[in-house]
Amino acid sequence: MHLGNLCGAVQRWVTSQPAAESDAARDGAAVFCVVDLHALNGPYNPAELRQLTRELTTVLFAAGIDPNRALLFAQSHVAAIHTECTWLLNNVATVGELRRMTQFKDKSDGQESVTAGLFDYPVLMAADILLYDTEEVPVGDDQRQHVELTRDIAIRFNGRFGDTFTVPKATLPPSGARIMDLQQPSKKMSKSDGDSPGCVFILDDPKQIAKKIKTAVTDSETEIRYDTKAKPGISNLLDIYAACTHQSVAHAETQFSGQRYGDLKVAVADAVIEMLAPIQQRYHELSAEPGEVDRLLARGAARARERSAPVLERVRDAMGLLAPMR
Ligand code: AMP
Repeated sequence: MHLGNLCGAVQRWVTSQPAAESDAARDGAAVFCVVDLHALNGPYNPAELRQLTRELTTVLFAAGIDPNRALLFAQSHVAAIHTECTWLLNNVATVGELRRMTQFKDKSDGQESVTAGLFDYPVLMAADILLYDTEEVPVGDDQRQHVELTRDIAIRFNGRFGDTFTVPKATLPPSGARIMDLQQPSKKMSKSDGDSPGCVFILDDPKQIAKKIKTAVTDSETEIRYDTKAKPGISNLLDIYAACTHQSVAHAETQFSGQRYGDLKVAVADAVIEMLAPIQQRYHELSAEPGEVDRLLARGAARARERSAPVLERVRDAMGLLAPMR
């Protein structure tokens, strides 16, 4: 998990959890999923995938996802339900709309061979969302188009087969919706680039973080001003600062007005390190408890099956599949 994931999505996953002991918490109203089935659609190393799935889950718990207030599970642990729903939705989604997905265009561009999984990935994502009667999907800007597609699929399905799905909407954060790469601020920060100096990972140590931010690409001017077109590097640093300190970009811009680029970089590095320190500490504590994360995942999967199985039944019934005799 990197800084973009935290600022764009996970910070709000944490704050959107219902209060402990509330009806919403008991009903499993907040649902989060580690999408390991999605991770299969490009080249990967199976042993590493297993290790990264556990690591990402641990980071999410460390970041504040609370198993008593929310439901967190691995997608592949509820695979029968998620993939069956995907197959059913594949008959409502169209090839034309999947071809228009920016992420598919970007990831398939120039590739000799593209997996069917990469093409169909947004339909699996639609199933992930629709199976839980989701109203709001807190995502970063890059996933907005996939949530729009999910809406279109749900609306089309409801129109053709009767009211079955809750129609969800994407919600974006006020700052940090698109954190950019520190070395190439015209492209988003992404895990696909591996351990690059442009990407701050949640488990990077303070020295690495300070170095990555200190060497961030800026511009040849000296004025600190938010202007994503003319000053993408400085604007990205302001955005990161605002997201880490929970204030608006305009406020951050005023705070640094008249200061030097070096001052901004030191303040951004301090803010990121301060935000990540407790997460890293909890990560190491949780990692030291063998079996704990796997146990929490098993509990999450059992609850996710309870939540999603009746929705899948609704979909099967609406589409005219014969119910098996019980
Ligand atoms: P992914 O990296 O595709 O697994 O994304 C997980 C969540 O993080 C999604 O909600 C994305 O929209 C969000 N996200 C990914 N990269 C960024 C970024 N560079 N800036 C802000 N949000 C991001």
